[in-house]
Amino acid sequence: MIALTKSQLGVINPLWHKSIHSPYTKINSKWVNDLNIKKETIRKLGKHRMSDLWEGKDFKTKQELERVTKCKINNLEYIKLTSFCKNKTNVTKIRRVATNWETIFIKTSDKGLITQIYKELNQLYKKSSHSPIDKWAKDMNRQFSAKEIKTINKHMKKCSTSLIIREMQIKTTLRYHLTPSRLANMTAMESNECWRGCGKVGTLIHFWWSCELIQPFWRAIWNYAQRVIKDCLPFDPAIALLGLYPKEIIRKKTHTRIFIAALFVVAKNWKTRRCPSIGEWLNKLWYMLVMESYCAKRNNKVEEFHGDWNNLQEVMQSERSRTRKTLYTETDTLW
Ligand SMILES: [Zn+2]
Repeated sequence: MIALTKSQLGVINPLWHKSIHSPYTKINSKWVNDLNIKKETIRKLGKHRMSDLWEGKDFKTKQELERVTKCKINNLEYIKLTSFCKNKTNVTKIRRVATNWETIFIKTSDKGLITQIYKELNQLYKKSSHSPIDKWAKDMNRQFSAKEIKTINKHMKKCSTSLIIREMQIKTTLRYHLTPSRLANMTAMESNECWRGCGKVGTLIHFWWSCELIQPFWRAIWNYAQRVIKDCLPFDPAIALLGLYPKEIIRKKTHTRIFIAALFVVAKNWKTRRCPSIGEWLNKLWYMLVMESYCAKRNNKVEEFHGDWNNLQEVMQSERSRTRKTLYTETDTLW
């Protein structure tokens, strides 16, 4: 069987922990003794549980209680019991739905107990998935197949030779960046609205993709990507954020460079209240090109490098001549 720590047991089964009042707490437990109810009455009530004190939505009347327990109950004792059970803090504990653990352990017979515990523990371990890819799947409202998950993981490890370029891919996939909704969860104080001021809830997928201040930027990036490859690419966050391309796309390397430069720009503008500019993206892309050219020179793979960056270089050059701005540095040493 799976070994559990004391704190884990406390979380999964409140009956074993501080909280005494649950639907299954027996009436003769310690707190009733504190109410100064006659020992005789408690002894008779003792075999019943807290939830037995209610009849549907209402607390049982004195007569009903006497009929069920088959013993006379003093008026004052009935009032003490009622006011205790019906006060706001206790009623939420007693009237809540019992957890699976409570239901399992309350059974008097041991038959099938181990099987039930085993099933419940299995559920527990299934529920607490901390895989970032599972969370992305939930955010993007879709399911990834085992093959797709493998592709995402592979992409994270192998998308570039240069560490600085790989870093952004890893940070994005592993959900590294803080968001208002996460901060709100952690501190219970902050508002969970988008920092860019669009008024929507600032989740991770919102910041990376669906925020209205980021969407025009991604549309523009998609235009560039399609111009470079001269191929149709579906407008899908999984492609840019996780590197999950449709099967028919062949030149993934070039696309990935475009998207990672875009990720850098979005991350840099995480809290600014404007749409990132294409100029920033081109600068970043140029910087990546410089980094990779050094890598290629060091590893004697210059030819491969020129093949990879050829199309992108054309787009960047044409963009520069169009805007007539000196966006890039170190051009001459590279080409
Ligand atoms: Zn927003």
